[in-house]
Order: sequence, then C-alpha cells, then structure tokens
Amino acid sequence: MSYHEDTAKSKNMRHEIADSFDEFRADQQLKLKAAWQKGKKICGVYCAFAPRELIRASGAIPVSLCGTKQEPIPEAEKILPRNLCPLIKSSYGYAITWSCPYYNFSHFLIGETTCDGKTKMFELIAREKPIYVMDLPKRVNNSSSALAYWLAEIRKVKKFIEDQTGNTITEDNLHKAISIQNAERILLKRLACLCRGSHIPITGLDMNRVVNGKGFCVDQGEYIKNLEVLTKELEAKVNEGQSVCSEDASRILLTGCPIGEGSEKVLRTIEECGGIVVCQEACSGIKNFDDLVDEDKEPLKAIAERYLKIGCSCISPNTRRIELLDRLVKEFNVDGVVDLTWLACHTYNVESFIIKDYLNKRHKVPFLQVEADYSEGDIMQLRVRLEAFLEMIHR
Ligand code: SF4
Ligand code: SF4
Repeated sequence: MSYHEDTAKSKNMRHEIADSFDEFRADQQLKLKAAWQKGKKICGVYCAFAPRELIRASGAIPVSLCGTKQEPIPEAEKILPRNLCPLIKSSYGYAITWSCPYYNFSHFLIGETTCDGKTKMFELIAREKPIYVMDLPKRVNNSSSALAYWLAEIRKVKKFIEDQTGNTITEDNLHKAISIQNAERILLKRLACLCRGSHIPITGLDMNRVVNGKGFCVDQGEYIKNLEVLTKELEAKVNEGQSVCSEDASRILLTGCPIGEGSEKVLRTIEECGGIVVCQEACSGIKNFDDLVDEDKEPLKAIAERYLKIGCSCISPNTRRIELLDRLVKEFNVDGVVDLTWLACHTYNVESFIIKDYLNKRHKVPFLQVEADYSEGDIMQLRVRLEAFLEMIHR
C-alpha cells in the first residue's frame, strides 16, 4: 500500500470515530452552561495533579483549562514574557480575554506549583478568580516527608473546595467519586492498550481526541459509556484484523509535554508522514490514567499517594517517567520515540537528554527530540525532521 493510500485509509477511519467524541464535547459544553445556570459549581483545573475525585465528591464539575491553542497567545504576550512556554501563555491568554467558556463558567480554580512559569502565572490569575495553588513537593522518591506534605495539601484543597461549594465532602461521596474516576482510567487504559498489537484500530490523533474529552465532561457517566462503546467497537476491529495503517508503518511512542485540541501538530505530522503513534506517554496520554487510587485505603491518603506518582518533569529526579517509558517501549513494541518539548519548557527540555540516554542504553530505540510552539510557523521544518526520522527507522 502506498503512503497516500495509507493516509486516505486513516482519514476514513478517523471521521467515524472522532465525530462521536466531537459531538459529545459540543453537547457537554451546552450541559455545562445549563449546569452553571442552575447554580452548579464549576472548578477549573490546569494540571494532572489536580485531584478530580475531591471536586466531583463535592458536587462540583471539574473542567480542564490548560490552553492548547495559539489564538489567545498574542494577548497574553502583552503581559507575560514571550519566552514562556505556549501552554502557559495560551492558558493565561484565555483567562484575560474571557474567550474560553470553560474558564468563564468556572467559579473557582485549582493550580499547582509545578514549573516556575505556571506557578507565577497563577499569581496573576488569582487576581481574576479564587484559586488554590497546591504546593507540590519535588523530591518525592521514597520520601515519607514529601508524601506527608502532599497529604496536608490534599486536606487543604479539600477544605478550599468545601468552602467554595458550600458542600461537605463526605467519605461516602469520596469513595463513589474515586470508584468512578478509577473506572474511567481503567477503560482509557484498556482502549490505549488496543494499540499494543500488530492491528492498530485507532490513530494517535483520534486517541488524543477521545482522551481529551475527559477534561470537559459534565456527565462523567456518559463519557464512560461512550468509552465502553468505542472500546468494544475497536476490540471487534482488532479481532477482525482491521487496522488504520499499513503493517509496516513505524510505531511511534510520543512523550514529553502534553498536547490537546489545537496543539496536535507534531502528532498529526508524524501520522501524515506515514508513522503511527501507538502510544502517548504524556499527561494527555497514558501517564494520566496508568495509576489508580487504591480503593481499599483511607481515601485522602490513597489520593495523595496516587497523584504523587505522576512522572512530571517538575519532579526531581523524575524516575517515574523513566519507569513508565521503560514499560511502554516494550509493551507497545515501538520503533522510535519522539519527545515533544514546548519551546521554553526548561524541565522537559533538560530531561530530554536523560530520557534519550536511558532509552539508547537500555532499549537501543531511536529517539528524536523536537521543540515547537503552537504556531504553524515551524511546520515545514518539523515535517522535514520527522520525515527523515521515520525514513531512518522504517523497517
Ligand atoms: S506535564 Fe506536569 S505540569 Fe504539565 S500537566 Fe502534566 S503534571 Fe501538570
Ligand atoms: S509544558 Fe513545561 S513550561 Fe509549560 S506548563 Fe508544562 S511543565 Fe511548565
């Protein structure tokens, strides 16, 4: 099969699957407005460290406010330095232009002291809306004091959520919220793992759309039901031997900074150039649903433990990311790793060397780091580099 036929094949599969999740997202936006009009509290979150179970257990709705589009960046650059990562500028741009309905509907916000740029941006956002910025310990490995500190932060954010919503977070509601959130993670993982075999039922681009939907659902049960339907459909396709790409398409693991709707250009370009992203490790991928909250433990402690395991580059040393990549490279039988660093993201940029060194020594897997921003200005250069990489690793 030629490259062009291959791409056409992917496009046909793409519409059918992506449409239902695009419709779901549009519908949830209407539901969010209706919930807001009825006085339901909305909580905006910016990061994978925000404990969504606590928000749901209070009766509030968590929505993702992580900026993933270029449009609001010029406004943000009037206040923020230009050499900040696009994710921070986009998030802040939405806040000051009031052009994101999810931000506009949010009654209160939760942030975290992850990287310096984001931490300082929250000081500016605090002028607009009530926000609790969770103080994230960075040296977490085998550290009981880090866990104790983070648990105290979990307790503080619980109190903040209760104060903002006027609702007490009961143990019963928390158990229910944990169980539902775990069910969502289990399904997302089951879906993601369908790409481990030689028949790939979904493109990385579609998978990204599906996973992205979780950040915008008013009705979490409906999202989970949609996931179940999609997973079963795709399992059937795998059993029938169907694939969205040719058998010799290079299997790529995408790692690094998170991506979302509007910032998928690297993912898209990989697939347009004939590769297939079989796994996304970033916070917009498996990193966010690999670990569960232990339902047999005291809930707040279990939440603290689960969230402190997130392998973000702000953690030092970030051994959890290496452990996860170690597993994913093998499980997904990857031909190459692409590490996306948003321009001016120092933590992921520095960590890229460590990741490359580890993967080269341990797995001898080809590795390419790409730095990019949200604009389309570098798309040709990206394409040339990705094409050359894919050509080099083609089996
Ligand atoms: S990469 Fe780190 S800072 Fe960014 S969303 Fe993930 S956990 Fe948060
Ligand atoms: S991509 Fe990097 S610089 Fe940007 S918010 Fe995430 S950790 Fe911070």
